[in-house]
Amino acid sequence: MNYSLILQNISEIFIAEDLSPVLKGPHLLIAADENGKISFVGKSEDFRKTEPGFETKFKDVIVDAGNKAVFPGLVDSHTHLVFAATREDEFAMKSRGATYEEIAAAGGGIINSTVKTKKASLEEIVEQASKRLSQLVSYGVTTVEIKSGYGLDTESELKLLTAIAELKKRFPVEIVPTFLGAHAYPPEFKNDHEGYINLINNEMLPEIKARNLAEFADVFCEEGYFSLKETEKLMLRAKELGFGLKLHADEFHSLGGTELAAEMGAASVDHLEAISDLGIKKLAENGVVAGVLPITSVFSRLPFAPARKMAENGVTVALATDMNPGSCMCGFLPLAASLGATQLKLSVEESLKGITINGAKSLKRDKTKGSIEVGKDADIVIMDSSSVAYPIYHFAHNHCEKVFVKGRRIVG
Ligand SMILES: [Zn+2]
Repeated sequence: MNYSLILQNISEIFIAEDLSPVLKGPHLLIAADENGKISFVGKSEDFRKTEPGFETKFKDVIVDAGNKAVFPGLVDSHTHLVFAATREDEFAMKSRGATYEEIAAAGGGIINSTVKTKKASLEEIVEQASKRLSQLVSYGVTTVEIKSGYGLDTESELKLLTAIAELKKRFPVEIVPTFLGAHAYPPEFKNDHEGYINLINNEMLPEIKARNLAEFADVFCEEGYFSLKETEKLMLRAKELGFGLKLHADEFHSLGGTELAAEMGAASVDHLEAISDLGIKKLAENGVVAGVLPITSVFSRLPFAPARKMAENGVTVALATDMNPGSCMCGFLPLAASLGATQLKLSVEESLKGITINGAKSLKRDKTKGSIEVGKDADIVIMDSSSVAYPIYHFAHNHCEKVFVKGRRIVG
């Protein structure tokens, strides 16, 4: 057997398996085969039994973890990191107490980003997004979902999705593209909702499918955005065309979107700050992941989603950044786990699962990503600490030291 990586001298591994998520050392070892798949996880001495003399035989692929803790590559399952301009002017309004609705009414919000996105070239958008994505990778993120949704016309939405496709070519990480044309009504359709829904359903979705530019379709189901009925029309069409479904729901008001998406077999419903008890029940019953975004709650002064209650009722809770220029200008995923373990009352293990295996479930990547198990991709992060709890306990600091994707080092 040949190896792409033999990582030895590991103190602890957050393997992210259900029953016993942490493997305690010392002297743990992870080996990855020549295809970058994990082939061994356990004690060095056990590996030596099957590979005697591996230290000399495979010395070119051996990496010493320095008695530090190792994690699966982190999974940011909800971002909007492809956009053309930042909005610190609105941030200043917000800091003085303006609400999301007031900012939108003043011509800000999503529409502000839309105007700037339409003007920007594809290359400008890719350059800006590359910088942000590099930052995420330096935190240990190896799988990331990225949504469109700042174009809101066919040409501009295709431009954003093309930018995401370009990032896929430039970065070795796993990028999952989601189409969010139903992010807001563009001004020209303010009084013609049916017209915009027809544009999405009859023009955008089929074209995106034909070009294979998105895996999921998403809708912002909220008062002032897409009603329950409108959301249903969009999700039905997306499903019919073969897209996976995601939904922004219950951020400010519970309109029934969560319940509907759960019944339609969505991969995840995200936000959920105002989720109803029925919504929680439906997510659990249908095995739909709750995408909780605690950094957004901090940044936008929203209540936190009831993650503890969801977890206790059998819902799989993923934690993501929601990185976007308006409501959460932060891509530091470990902070979502720190907020999980503090503000959301999740355990350390639940919080770490939120940014690894549960994120992977929300993106339908849990067969290959999100945990350290034999057969999965060797996407591995070494953090500068000896315990798995430390990087989210010593919070808001980047502890990431080395990152591997499919057994190949990409950071450190
Ligand atoms: Zn979002």
